Amino acid sequence: MKILVVGGGGREHAIVMKLAESPQVEALYCAPGNGGIAKYAKCFPVKATDIDGMVKLAKELAVDLVFVAPDDPLVLGMADAMQAEGFMTFGPKKNAAILEGSKVFSKELMQKYHIPTAEYRVFDKPQEAEAYLKEKNEYPTVIKADGLALGKGVVIAQNEQEAFDAIASIMEDKIFGESGSKVVIEEFLTGPEVSVLSFTDGKTVKPMVSSMDHKRALDGDQGLNTGGMGTVAPNPYYTPEIAQQCMDTIFLPTIRAMQEEGRPFTGCLYFGLMLTPKGPKVIEYNCRFGDPETQVVLPLLDTDLVDIMLAIWNGTLDQLDIQWKDGCAACVVMASGGYPKKYATGLPIAGLDENGQTANCFVYHAGTKLDGDTFLTAGGRVLGVTATAATLPEALDTAYVGVKTISFQDAHYRKDIGQRALKALS
Ligand code: ATP
Repeated sequence: MKILVVGGGGREHAIVMKLAESPQVEALYCAPGNGGIAKYAKCFPVKATDIDGMVKLAKELAVDLVFVAPDDPLVLGMADAMQAEGFMTFGPKKNAAILEGSKVFSKELMQKYHIPTAEYRVFDKPQEAEAYLKEKNEYPTVIKADGLALGKGVVIAQNEQEAFDAIASIMEDKIFGESGSKVVIEEFLTGPEVSVLSFTDGKTVKPMVSSMDHKRALDGDQGLNTGGMGTVAPNPYYTPEIAQQCMDTIFLPTIRAMQEEGRPFTGCLYFGLMLTPKGPKVIEYNCRFGDPETQVVLPLLDTDLVDIMLAIWNGTLDQLDIQWKDGCAACVVMASGGYPKKYATGLPIAGLDENGQTANCFVYHAGTKLDGDTFLTAGGRVLGVTATAATLPEALDTAYVGVKTISFQDAHYRKDIGQRALKALS
């Protein structure tokens, strides 16, 4: 099978490396890819959001399947465009990707189908949002832009001033463009967060190993929010009892709701959950693999990913037994100094072998490019150094040994990835 993977970050590198393990894969392509991915798949400089360009590339390469990994091309309808040209795809169609593309849609769906989530109100006029905030006067409160906002569309306001500032920048200054035409104002929930990615063919849902993200830039969960500074899997807060509760009250009801709405969801559905004192609640849905959750989940997958994609495509996921490896995985992100604010690029990375790897770790490249034989930094998050082991402490130790063998100027990484999980375990 010839496969084109759309995207160019650490998540796509993890997907490409997993697909490279499959005996069924005869050719792997990626667009736009990056320096590390180029060692496993032939890369082409087509932007992930360029639907026409990507369809043209898929045709030229005569691929059998297109794996659309990032949210924006899915929300724009890349799966639909590929299917219209006869390509098998992995990733939901536009009418199902809206589950991530519009927070108003997802909140209304959850309300209609009684899926547990934070209480909320939707506003399309800033004055009405402000009047509601004044009347409610409860802080912290959570303000979310309706549409995609590069993971930056959520503000936890600690007081009225912060809430009004958020409304002004989202709805009036339009810092996220049309994504901010509407806002969701929701109840602030508390409890441990769990990420659960799942495979679904629209009827059957098979959760993957759970994981835990570390979103803040600095140790001790301080500093600015980032795309994710590290992950561990499985998430120790996610016990078998909670998993069953989530299946019954969240996962299956969501899949059925989407089917009932005439928007069957196929591909990977990501459930961002908070384990509140009143039970698990949905914080967000993503219509694709998470980044950097994928980097710890896929190394633990023991079933051929191609078989899973085919079962999803054929609607026979119920008949496939998906196996997971025992043990744990840890991913430590090495970022450019200054990230998530301004940072330099083009800096040479030392300590990687010719495949961009290092001993005992999977080094997933998030933002690198190749200059001859040298890997250069090319983004905010540069590498996700990942290890698997029988236990979480061993996986973390190995990942940190990997991190210490790699260097580039001003490299920044968190020293405490996994500490919250270790505390929960003890
Ligand atoms: P992502 O990059 O994960 O797609 P996003 O912009 O879609 O992010 P959310 O995941 O909805 O945003 O929220 C980001 C973070 O804000 C969550 O991981 C959580 O920590 C916090 N958060 C969101 N909603 C709430 C809530 N109702 N109560 C408390 N914290 C919340």
